[in-house]
Amino acid sequence: MGNTELWLNILRRLQPTIMKAHFLTWFQGTAILDLADGVLKIGVPTVYSQNWVASKYNLKVLQAAQELNPEITAVEYEVKGDLENGGEGVDVQNIFRDQVEKKVRKVRNVAEVTVRKAGSDQAVTSQMMNSRYRLNNFVVGHDNRLPHAACNAVVNMPGGIYNPLYIYGKVGMGKTHLLQAVGNEIVNRYPDMVVKYITAEKFVTEVVEAIGKRHMEQFKKQYRNVDCFLIDDVQFFARKDSSQQEFFHTFNTLYEANKQIVLTSDRPPSELDDLDERLKSRFAMGMVLNLLPPDFETRLAILQAKTSEFGMLIDPEILSFIATNVTTSVRSLEGVLKQLMAEMQLFERTATLRCVAEIIQRMDKAQKIIGYDFEEEGQRKAVRSVQGAIEAVAEYFGVTVDDLVGESRKQAVARPRQICMYLIKQELQESYERIGDGFGGRNHTTVMHACSKTAALLKKDLRLVRDLNALKREMGL
Ligand code: ADP
Ligand code: MG
Repeated sequence: MGNTELWLNILRRLQPTIMKAHFLTWFQGTAILDLADGVLKIGVPTVYSQNWVASKYNLKVLQAAQELNPEITAVEYEVKGDLENGGEGVDVQNIFRDQVEKKVRKVRNVAEVTVRKAGSDQAVTSQMMNSRYRLNNFVVGHDNRLPHAACNAVVNMPGGIYNPLYIYGKVGMGKTHLLQAVGNEIVNRYPDMVVKYITAEKFVTEVVEAIGKRHMEQFKKQYRNVDCFLIDDVQFFARKDSSQQEFFHTFNTLYEANKQIVLTSDRPPSELDDLDERLKSRFAMGMVLNLLPPDFETRLAILQAKTSEFGMLIDPEILSFIATNVTTSVRSLEGVLKQLMAEMQLFERTATLRCVAEIIQRMDKAQKIIGYDFEEEGQRKAVRSVQGAIEAVAEYFGVTVDDLVGESRKQAVARPRQICMYLIKQELQESYERIGDGFGGRNHTTVMHACSKTAALLKKDLRLVRDLNALKREMGL
C-alpha cells in the first residue's frame, strides 16, 4: 500500500469518530511525508493545525494507523506549506463522497435512493438499482451481443451516438438487468453524474402525485439535474395521458441537453399502440435493439455463470438438461436453479436429473417455462388433432403411422403408442373413446391403461420425460 493509499485508509477510519466540520478543517490537505522505523510523519499545512491535530487527535490517528500497520509506534506532525492546492495533500471531500456511495450500495431493500449533484440543492430520487446487475456478469451470446455492446458504448460515452437507446424484448430476457447495469456502471465511473432509474409505472404515479399535491414545478426541476435517465417498461405508459405529456417534456429537455436516455419495453416503439405518435418517433430516434431469447449455448453459459454465482456444484449433464428444456426466459432458468438449490439444501440431496425434471415439470404447470426455440416461432403451427399427434409421434420414434395404430405388440412400437395416447389425452384433452377410435378402434379401457402406465413411468423414467418434452416442442405445444 502506497503512502497516499495508507493515509486515505487511516482517514476513512478516523472520519466516523470526528465531527464532519472538524474533520474537514483539520485533515484537509494533509499527507504522509515519511514512514520509517515505526514513525509515521504526517504533513499538515499550518503551525496552527499542527498543534491542534497533535494535541486533539494524536491518539486516534495512532490507533487507526496501527490497525492498518501494526509496526507503526508513533506519529509526528510537520508543517509543510505546499501540500494543498495541487500538492500531495489529500482532498478529504473524496472520503465523504466514497462514504455516500457505500451507503447507497448498502441500502438494499430500500425502494428509493436520493442523489444530489455537487453544487445543487435539488435532490433527485431514483428507484433503487440492484448492484448485482452489471455489464460484466451479463452473459453474452449470439442473440444478445448487440444490446450488450450498445450498453457498453453508452457507459463509455453517455449522451453519445446511442441516444436514446431503446431495448425491447419479452419478459425475463434481461432488459432490467442491462438497464440497471448501465446505471451502476455510470455511477461508478462518473461519480458526479446523477443517474435516475424509474419504471414507467412509477413515473406515472409520480406525475399523478405531483399534480395532486401541486408540486409540478418541483417535479420538473429535479429532472434538470439528471444526467442519465433510465426508464424501464415504457409499455406501461399506455393511455395515461397527462403522464405521457409530462414524459414527453422530460424526454425533450434531457435529450436537448445531451443527457443519456435509455428505455426498455416489451415491444418495439412502433407497436406501442396507445402512445403519442411524437413519443414513438422520439423513442426510435437513436438506436432500437431487440433483446432476443438466448440460444442453447448461451442458456448453458448463463446456467454455468449462475451456479458459480450461487456457489452450487451441479453436474454438467443436468445443466444441459435444463438448458434444453427451459427456453422461455432467462428468469425461468434462474428460477429452476433457485428451486433446485432450495431442495438440495432442504432435503440435503444432491441434484439428480430426476429431481430437476420434477422441478421443471412442476414449474411449467404453474407458469409455462418449457418452450420451443423462438427462432422457429411462427413458422410452425401447433399440432392439435389426433391424427397430427400420431404423425408427430411416429416420426419422432422412427416408426410408421400404420405401426402406431396397428396391432403390433413389439416394445419399439407399443411404447410409442402408449406415449402418444398419453400425450393426446394430456395435451389435447380428447376423450378416451375418441383416442381409441384414432388408434384403429381400440377400446377406451386400453387407452386408459396406456395413459396410467405412461403417467407411472414418467415418475421414474427420465428419458421418457425428455422425450415427452421434446415431442411437445416438436408439436408446438
Ligand atoms: P426483464 O427485465 O427483461 O424481464 P430481467 O432483467 O429482470 O428481465 O432478467 C431476469 C433475470 O435473468 C435477472 O435475474 C437477470 O440477472 C437474469 N439475466 C437475464 N439475461 C441474462 C444474461 N444474459 N446473463 C446473465 N443473467 C441474465
Ligand atoms: Mg424488467
